[in-house]
Amino acid sequence: MGHGSDALATYRRKRDFRRTPEPGSDRKRQRQEESAESSPQFVVQVHDASSMHFDFRLEADGVLKSWAIPKGPSADPSEKRLAMPTEDHPLEYGEFEGVVPPGQYGSGTVIVWDQGTYSNLSERDGEPVPVAEALAKGHLSFALHGKKLHGGYALTRFRDGEDEAWLLVKRADRRQTKKGGRSEPVPARLRSVLTGRTLKQVAAGQ
Ligand code: MN
Repeated sequence: MGHGSDALATYRRKRDFRRTPEPGSDRKRQRQEESAESSPQFVVQVHDASSMHFDFRLEADGVLKSWAIPKGPSADPSEKRLAMPTEDHPLEYGEFEGVVPPGQYGSGTVIVWDQGTYSNLSERDGEPVPVAEALAKGHLSFALHGKKLHGGYALTRFRDGEDEAWLLVKRADRRQTKKGGRSEPVPARLRSVLTGRTLKQVAAGQ
């Protein structure tokens, strides 16, 4: 058991989570109930692991559906970004930044690069298509309402089976950038949207 959960033992012992709405051991279900009424969340984490990548996560069915995007999202509709699906993550993971220790799965530094809500824009014959159904069919259209990412995006599966792969593409709208308008993100300049820290600062703080 890690240091973080030990640090929460007192916090938990002092509270009755059947009575207080504060986040506790049953936070996931609480979030699910909340999200039934509010917009689902999205999060983009920068993960400086064996190779640096962005983890793109969309809340659906009580979990964070996740893709690893080597180059990160682009605001330029002409730039298709490879997105490799990864395992579902718990909703709480959307707040996580820190260092996964050496020897552990995904060891490396994580920062929350962007965070916000999204709207599902998927439809068929003018009827809305639920996120899970759209993902199962391999095409999800949505709008991001983040601090850094805005407007329409689409995730499209282009390869199925064991080497399943998707593309994340910005949809043409007023939140796009011009072709060639923005260069690749510079790792040293990437900052947490929660704390303003860089990967280096987060790693040094552990
Ligand atoms: Mn990752």
